[in-house]
Amino acid sequence: MASLKKQIQKLELQCETDQADLEALGRVTVRLCLATKGLDSALDDRLEPLQERLKNGNGGSLISRTEAAEKGLMNYFQQRDRGVQQTLDALRSMLTLLWQSTSQEGIRERIDKLIEELPDAVENFGEYPRLLTETSKLQATIFDRPNDDAAAGAAAGTAGGALSEETQEQLELVCNRVGSLVLDMLGQLSIPAAERAKARTLMKRIEEGFEWQQLPLIQEAVVELVLKAMVVRQEDFENYLESLNHQLGDIQGFLVESREHQQAHRDSSQKLDLAVRSDVSKVEHSLVQAESLDQLKTTVRSQLADIVKAVDQYRSEQEARELQVESRLEQLQDKLETMEEQSVRMQAHLEEQRVRAVSDPLTGLPNRGAYSERMETEFSRWKRYGHDLTMVVCDLDHFKRVNDNYGHLAGDKVLKLVAKLLTKRLRESDFVARFGGEEFVVLMPETDAAKAQQVVEVLRKTVAASPFNFGGKPVQITMSFGIAGFHANDETHEEVFQRADDALYQAKEQGRNRSIVASR
Ligand code: GH3
Ligand code: MG
Ligand code: MG
Repeated sequence: MASLKKQIQKLELQCETDQADLEALGRVTVRLCLATKGLDSALDDRLEPLQERLKNGNGGSLISRTEAAEKGLMNYFQQRDRGVQQTLDALRSMLTLLWQSTSQEGIRERIDKLIEELPDAVENFGEYPRLLTETSKLQATIFDRPNDDAAAGAAAGTAGGALSEETQEQLELVCNRVGSLVLDMLGQLSIPAAERAKARTLMKRIEEGFEWQQLPLIQEAVVELVLKAMVVRQEDFENYLESLNHQLGDIQGFLVESREHQQAHRDSSQKLDLAVRSDVSKVEHSLVQAESLDQLKTTVRSQLADIVKAVDQYRSEQEARELQVESRLEQLQDKLETMEEQSVRMQAHLEEQRVRAVSDPLTGLPNRGAYSERMETEFSRWKRYGHDLTMVVCDLDHFKRVNDNYGHLAGDKVLKLVAKLLTKRLRESDFVARFGGEEFVVLMPETDAAKAQQVVEVLRKTVAASPFNFGGKPVQITMSFGIAGFHANDETHEEVFQRADDALYQAKEQGRNRSIVASR
């Protein structure tokens, strides 16, 4: 540019002294004007009077000068072409990066249109501000609203626009799996009546699908319910809870991390935005302030390179974040699998514990605790509906002798066999428990004492007729039974038990291997 100016100044001087070959000068001037018009107003101002003078016929002899000027101009055209190509490349690669950074159709169309316009527009420096402004606007639209690209994720309240669609789907899957795990766990608990409404609401909420942000709350509610339901039954369960808590904590940690990623994503897109805006305004400023075409070219080119660098850096940061989130997700999937396995094991363990807690280990019959619980239920039902209910207390006769004569293990065997017989001969609705030692208690709903005695007699005879063998010798085992029906004036089940026990005592007194119905 500077050399061009000098050439023009020289041309001006020549105009005053040399009057020859005005035509040649005219040709050069026209080319010069065409090439430079609009580039620089100062240049235009200088060219205008020169053109005027040439028109007025007082240009002077300028042939050698014009040849030099023509050469200079050709160089300029070549350089300009190279600059245009570089500018075109830089702008195109920036727009391509922007295109890749969005999935919004409207914006992609705008970018496509701009890329199409580029070759023509770039030829004209006057178009640069518009190109750059449009590019900057597109960039702002893409990076200002990162959530638009992941509307589904944002709506689900998950980790936001920093994550790809695939990652979002995986997150949703993780959420569902946590949900079904928690549902399973709630399903296996016997929730106390006072907590049932809360449990139902919680389960409904989980079934409907919850959002990541709600996970800590759900976790808290589940742990609270579990503690209430279990009343800290076993150390194992506490450990399980602790580990569940730990794993849910991990998921929460991941959540926090995802939010940090999202923040980092916002920060870096803001940084990019600022960088591009500042570069674009520098370019615009250069366009206004440029003193020479060379300076302008260099500035614009280096500023465009800065923009491309900023976009590149943004993309590589974004890719690194995405990779990190993906690997964390994989770890989470593993953790979830462990959680699921643990949950299945815990379920089996709990069921086993539940059965063990209410059963007698020797006979497998309900134990005394289970009897008390069942008694309460039957008694309140009896009080409410007044249907018949009968209690039978039974005891093996001279059982001490069995132990003494044949050993404790033989005694155990008898207890097991008797328990089997009782269960087999009683109805499904009847309830039989080992009350303690060699004593059993039977509850017979919808049965009066007389009917109960008929059943009991069958039982008694069956036991008495059972061929027990110890050391090759047949041994007769018998039982005595005390039967008491519930009567309208009974206030507690303990008094009914007492009557049945008294009747049992009478049966023993009267010679054993018999049943006696308590008098009222
Ligand atoms: P009665 O006809 O008066 O009931 O006489 P009994 O010998 O059956 O009564 P007693 O109360 O004197 O003795 C009960 C015996 O039952 C004593 C105890 O060793 C035995 N026994 C209690 N529980 C078990 C058990 O789990 N296994 C075995 N093998 N024996 C038991
Ligand atoms: Mg006995
Ligand atoms: Mg006894």
